[in-house]
Formats: sequence, structure tokens, C-alpha cells
Amino acid sequence: MIKYNLICSHGHDFDIWFSKSADYDVQAPKGLINCPYCGDSRVEKAIMAPNISTSRKKEKMALQSQDMAGKAMATVDRAAQKLRDEIERNCEDVGDKFADEARAIHYGESEQRAIYGKATAKDARDLREEGIEAVALPDAIAPKKDKLN
Ligand SMILES: [Zn+2]
Repeated sequence: MIKYNLICSHGHDFDIWFSKSADYDVQAPKGLINCPYCGDSRVEKAIMAPNISTSRKKEKMALQSQDMAGKAMATVDRAAQKLRDEIERNCEDVGDKFADEARAIHYGESEQRAIYGKATAKDARDLREEGIEAVALPDAIAPKKDKLN
């Protein structure tokens, strides 16, 4: 048995056991692996931390990775901020009506435009079943309602 740490396209991570590593490679592209939280079949392997053996090496690595993580976070923050601004500028906030509005646009009952808003995992699943693609935004990118400006 081999354990994989997987992540779905909505960012849920979970562990799953396979009898051999080739099983993942066969099942994942066919969409046979589903996220236990939202049922998403678009899953991929999560990034694993390296397993360091000696404690001194461990300390050094911890410091290095802290430093790298800090730098990476700053970069991610800037990128997220930019992306968030883009979304706010170019998309209309439809709030809780996201699923209804996405449907209305898809079926031509509403004007074609980019929107964002809140949807439950069930909404997202229902939309996908109707062939409407919705992307879940990570918190860092989701536009903030309570902005101070
Ligand atoms: Zn999920």
C-alpha cells in the first residue's frame, strides 16, 4: 500500500491509499479519484516536504525553508493583490446570487459578463453538471467586501 497526499482543484487536501503507485497514474486522469469534501475529480498530488534525517540538517533546513517561505509569501501576496484588483475591476460582484446569475448568463437570460460571488460546494457541483465552469478563488485572491478605502 502507498499513501498519497492529494489536493483537489478547490484546494481541499486529503490522503488516499493505493495498492501500488501506478494506480494513481491510471485512476487520476480518468477522474476516478474524487475529493471527499466536494466530490471534485480534478485532483493532483500535493507537494510533499522532504524528509530530513539528521537534527542539525533539520535545523538548517528549517531556517532556510522559513526564509524561503517568507520570500515566497511576499511574492504570493503581491501576486494575489494584483489578481484581486483585476477581479474587482473586471468582474461584477453578484454576492450570494452567484449560482443563479452564472446559470442566467449561461442560458442567455442575462447579459454576458464576468461575475464573482459566493457559492456553496453543492452549487459549484450543480453548475459543473450543467456544463458551467466556476472556479473557486483562494481566500487570498477573493475580493474583500470590507476594504478600508
Ligand atoms: Zn474538494
